[in-house]
Amino acid sequence: MSLRRPQRWQMRQLLATSSLFLLVACAEQNTAADALPVAPQKTSPVAPLTTAAPTDADGFVLPSQTFDQWEAGFRQQALQAGINPALFDRAFAGITPDPSVIKADRSQPEFTRPVWEYLDGAISPVRVRKGQALLNQYADVLTQIEQRYGVDRQALVAVWGMESSFGQFQGDKSVIRSLATLAYEGRRQGFAQDQLIAALQILQNGDIQPELMLGSWSGAMGQTQFIPTTYNTHAVDFDGDGRRDIWNSAADALASTAHYLQSSGWQRGQPWGFEVQLSAGFDYAQADGALRKPVGEWLRMGVTLPAGTRLPANAEQLSAALLLPAGYRGPAFLVLDNFRAILKYNNSSSYALGVSLLSQRFNGAGYIYGQWPKDDLPLSRTERLELQTLLTAKNYDAGTPDGIIGANTRKAIRSAQQALGWPADGYPNHKLLESLRAH
Ligand code: CA
Repeated sequence: MSLRRPQRWQMRQLLATSSLFLLVACAEQNTAADALPVAPQKTSPVAPLTTAAPTDADGFVLPSQTFDQWEAGFRQQALQAGINPALFDRAFAGITPDPSVIKADRSQPEFTRPVWEYLDGAISPVRVRKGQALLNQYADVLTQIEQRYGVDRQALVAVWGMESSFGQFQGDKSVIRSLATLAYEGRRQGFAQDQLIAALQILQNGDIQPELMLGSWSGAMGQTQFIPTTYNTHAVDFDGDGRRDIWNSAADALASTAHYLQSSGWQRGQPWGFEVQLSAGFDYAQADGALRKPVGEWLRMGVTLPAGTRLPANAEQLSAALLLPAGYRGPAFLVLDNFRAILKYNNSSSYALGVSLLSQRFNGAGYIYGQWPKDDLPLSRTERLELQTLLTAKNYDAGTPDGIIGANTRKAIRSAQQALGWPADGYPNHKLLESLRAH
């Protein structure tokens, strides 16, 4: 991956589940437990569920069995799920835990790249030129994919560029080994186990050989970076060779991406959204992904278009949310259904904006009129934890501090901003942190 995508793995997992906040919270608990003393293992057969398991020096729970013991138990589960014993044994031949996967699973990046730097990387001139060349090279197959799934070619090629630099960086780790490691001692073992069963099903289906089933440390595979469960529900054989090959076939990868976006609510022929401007005194609390209104209503509320731009055709009735990726001082966008479909691919508004603007840049558009507040750098993880702690201490309930700015934290930030008489954009910044520290 050439791009740094904070929380990418966590977010990708959420596609497979509805318990978004629960999963993220659980993921964070191991780290929050860093400071806890190591609890002795209870020997009582009726030990309460809250008994703390033994942990290592960093507070991570130690596996209660050896890898071989775990593998023997998991083999039974896989066989019960319909996996052929010979296939299981071949897939697991010589498999040992991969320490680099555990290291990646436990890393909590301290610093987040500002959205404007992220977008500079996502929409680099090299990537734009490569994408334009591929749009030409695959014009025929893209026409067929558009007809079949209704997703426009620029968006598909943009996702392809963002996910794997058009197939160049797919990850070179054994998917079985990575997922076995995570199922054995990762932070989300149940999730990893489900993915591992799905990966074995892919092998059993004959789509790929075990030694060629490569991906990222988290088990995201091929040119589309699908996790195994998403592969099983959405990968397609578009080139007609009988195998769903998202590793080596661009046609399969592009069509699989289209199938997934179609299932995620993509609307044929609609734009992702468009840049807007907000009048002075606009109620910035309206910038909330869950608050959707027809474009026409936003316009009546004082949302305008940058000089020289026009409303996309027939957009007045479309349902839109207001996005302020860097708070009220930065650019503003009205985002439509197709933006939401991209979020299902990777639940990060920076990612969705990157895909959206890149898809337009292939046609020479997708430039932003507003100015980024480059003096306002994102808070570090330590600062986000402190912000959440201070908000909760002042009765703005930000939930258990986890360093993740989710819906609860944004709501708490808005309340604090309103009490201060500031624009309530829900955006965490240093000015707010300093104010909370001082009072
Ligand atoms: Ca194929």
